[in-house]
Amino acid sequence: MAETESKAPSNFIREIIDRDLETGKNDGRVHTRFPPEPNGYLHIGHAKSICLNFGLARDYKGKCNLRFDDTNPMKEEEEYVESIKRDVNWLGFDWEDREFYASDYFEQLYEWAVKLIKDGKAYVDDLNAEEIREYRGTLTEPGKNSPHRDRTIEENLDLFERMRNGEFPDGSRVLRARIDMASPNINMRDPVMYRILHARHNRTGDKWCIYPTYDWAHGQSDSIEGITHSVCTLEFEDHRPLYNWFVEQLGVHHPQQIEFARLELSHTIMSKRKLLKLVQEGHVASWDDPRMPTISGLRRRGYTPKSIRDFAERIGVAKRRDSVVDIALLEHCLREDLNLRARRVMAVLDPLKVTIENYPEDKVEEFEAVNNPENEADGTRMIPFSREVYIERGDFMEDPPKKFFRLAPGREVRLKHAYFVTCKEVIKDNDGNIVELICTYDPESRGGTTPDKRRVKGTLHWVSVRHAVEADVRLYDHLFIKADPNDAPEGEDFTANVNKESLTILSGCRVEPGLADATHDDLLQFLRHGYFCLDEKDSTAERLVFNRSVGLRDTWGKMQKKG
Ligand code: ATP
Ligand code: MG
Repeated sequence: MAETESKAPSNFIREIIDRDLETGKNDGRVHTRFPPEPNGYLHIGHAKSICLNFGLARDYKGKCNLRFDDTNPMKEEEEYVESIKRDVNWLGFDWEDREFYASDYFEQLYEWAVKLIKDGKAYVDDLNAEEIREYRGTLTEPGKNSPHRDRTIEENLDLFERMRNGEFPDGSRVLRARIDMASPNINMRDPVMYRILHARHNRTGDKWCIYPTYDWAHGQSDSIEGITHSVCTLEFEDHRPLYNWFVEQLGVHHPQQIEFARLELSHTIMSKRKLLKLVQEGHVASWDDPRMPTISGLRRRGYTPKSIRDFAERIGVAKRRDSVVDIALLEHCLREDLNLRARRVMAVLDPLKVTIENYPEDKVEEFEAVNNPENEADGTRMIPFSREVYIERGDFMEDPPKKFFRLAPGREVRLKHAYFVTCKEVIKDNDGNIVELICTYDPESRGGTTPDKRRVKGTLHWVSVRHAVEADVRLYDHLFIKADPNDAPEGEDFTANVNKESLTILSGCRVEPGLADATHDDLLQFLRHGYFCLDEKDSTAERLVFNRSVGLRDTWGKMQKKG
């Protein structure tokens, strides 16, 4: 299970489990599952559910299954199954040999449906979808019985078998549970258990042309697997009486369903359907676009599994709908992890050339730099220095205001780890743009201090022109301009709130030579610019591409202090 974390803090689900263990329920077993539908990539909301389910299994020395809820043959793809497995693994969790599919239970579900028919608890209905809706009633009015509700058991058995055998066209008949059309809970008004769908299924091929509904498959799948605590999100609360009814009618193992509030995160969306729309309409490049709240997008952006697990723990689980979580908290969790682990390096995103006129033409010196002041074990590295260096264009002002402490004509600053330099001359092109600075250096200031302990107000990062490596750098902003993307103008949807400036690509950046063989797994801090990682998809040996994972400014920490 997850690497080395201690037991998570208690919450109402843990209290329920503690009580169950005290009373000896389920023979002291704790068995959970994470049941994604393979119809899209997992997002940070799923991560909450994964950390919760696998975390419970870890802390109670129980088990957690990975089960694909693949009851809908139309929208499910192998690509999604693979991505889901990769994401769960990457988060640090292991389902061992318990990789299951609801489709593995189709035969058992069919037999159970036959049993319900024999017990007079299910019937074949000839009403079409629209009629079923009409007969269902509303929240304030009871439903009406279908004219086919009182078919004989023999007739139902015959029709159901012929449904399975493919004798009827799609949508012409359904199997329904026979419960109560007047129930105040609409889910109990004879819900549909099977629909006819002549469609090829990813795993069962053409074997079936009737498919169980989620409502019929889900609880029974949990029961078959011996799940003790079926943890799910609140929208299934009203389905719980139905799930209970099914297992009671069948007389099989009865998992206990516990609902918790879905994660909602500001400035982003949490629905696979909507995320798919962003991809299909080209608002983002792909499911793993670093702006996406998908686990694969976060990974590509440079999020660490640790930071996501930490986030899941901090937001906790609530029984009722929480307010929306601020995305700044997620970023804060990443920053905290990277602060401890990222290697500090120098990268110039908007280079301005500096020639140090009194530094020998061919000389190269190497300066030792600490990799991570937070962790001595990360050691040091050597960085080359020469007569020409790049500094950040924004670190120079020809006519600086009082509070500007960086380089200006006649001003002395420190080049980090290297020397003090003083600006002597500004060189411009014909249009008046600054193209180069001429400086001098103080040879006495080697390593960044002078014998006379002279002080300078500014320390700049830099790279040596002849040693630096060119790179593209991608900066990201929120995917949506509004905290609540669904708050769209009349007649428009959430895509109207997509932030058109969520991606900035900087080319011609220069980074330390040591980064030429960086990999995606290297956690980096570009001094003064934030945390970065190599883009695992678009970076090549010819053109390095770095993603900014998160900036340095901790907006969450700030808010906490103010609050
Ligand atoms: P979406 O609405 O994004 O398509 P879903 O609920 O349809 O999500 P499933 O594949 O059915 O996606 O979800 C698998 C598990 O993840 C379920 O147990 C579900 O409750 C949980 N889950 C999905 N979204 C969230 C969320 N935002 N917060 C917490 N858990 C979630
Ligand atoms: Mg779903």
